[in-house]
Amino acid sequence: MLQNIRVVLVNTSHPGNIGGAARAMKNMGLSQLVLVQPEDFPSGEAVARASGATDVLDAALVVDTLEEALTGCSVVLGTSARDRRIPWPLLDPRECASTSLEHLEQGGQVALVFGREYAGLTNEELQRCHFHVHIPSDPEFGSLNLAAAVQVLTYEVRMAWLAQQGQPTKMAKLETTAMLNSQLVTVEELEAYFRHLEQTLIAIRFLDPEKPRHLMARLRRLYGRCAISRLEMNILRGILTETQKVVDGAACKKGEE
Ligand code: SAH
Repeated sequence: MLQNIRVVLVNTSHPGNIGGAARAMKNMGLSQLVLVQPEDFPSGEAVARASGATDVLDAALVVDTLEEALTGCSVVLGTSARDRRIPWPLLDPRECASTSLEHLEQGGQVALVFGREYAGLTNEELQRCHFHVHIPSDPEFGSLNLAAAVQVLTYEVRMAWLAQQGQPTKMAKLETTAMLNSQLVTVEELEAYFRHLEQTLIAIRFLDPEKPRHLMARLRRLYGRCAISRLEMNILRGILTETQKVVDGAACKKGEE
């Protein structure tokens, strides 16, 4: 699906940036590169910077006009190093990624358009775009290297695509593994734990049964927020049991005195 996103570089001066963009694209699973009047292409410097993404360079389409580069696209997203050059619907890279995926899902073709190193995109070119995309960089030094800007946008596209594929992110993977490794506790087990916890809190005088101050309700709410596994419940119960032993031991000693 990501092959339906094309990266359009307008009038690029440095072939190294074309190579860098090709590499960034291939890293993120994109393959369609379109070059509008590149100043120096093909070039050994582009190949060197592509470092293995030469297939993307070899397949790059070189055209004369932006119009040709955008043929067949259902949405065009133009990047700008400046926050607001002309009043236009403005997206950040994450919103750009979700908009792109919406179009891909409906069978559309997407164009991400990048400007010249020294001058960006002209106002006329920007007006050809449905949306403008700005990477929220420090306004004091807001302009990224062209290939770096390609990397940021294609990374966001990849993250959105992975999420859409149901391919878990790192945290989701960790949680799934934890759940698979140990079963979750049932409500009965949780209730037994709360009874044990309450007794222990009374024993250590943290909870005054005369003045409970919603403590148990608050703790229930806290535990309710996490999916506790049986293994974790055993640890919690173990802590309570040991706490009670210490409390009982202290009480016995007092009695002996
Ligand atoms: N002096 C130019 C800078 C262009 S940087 C200007 O002021 O417009 C070259 C290209 O990199 C830009 O046209 C854009 O495609 C991309 N780029 C650089 N920084 C960016 C940013 N912060 N947000 C979005 N795109 C950016």
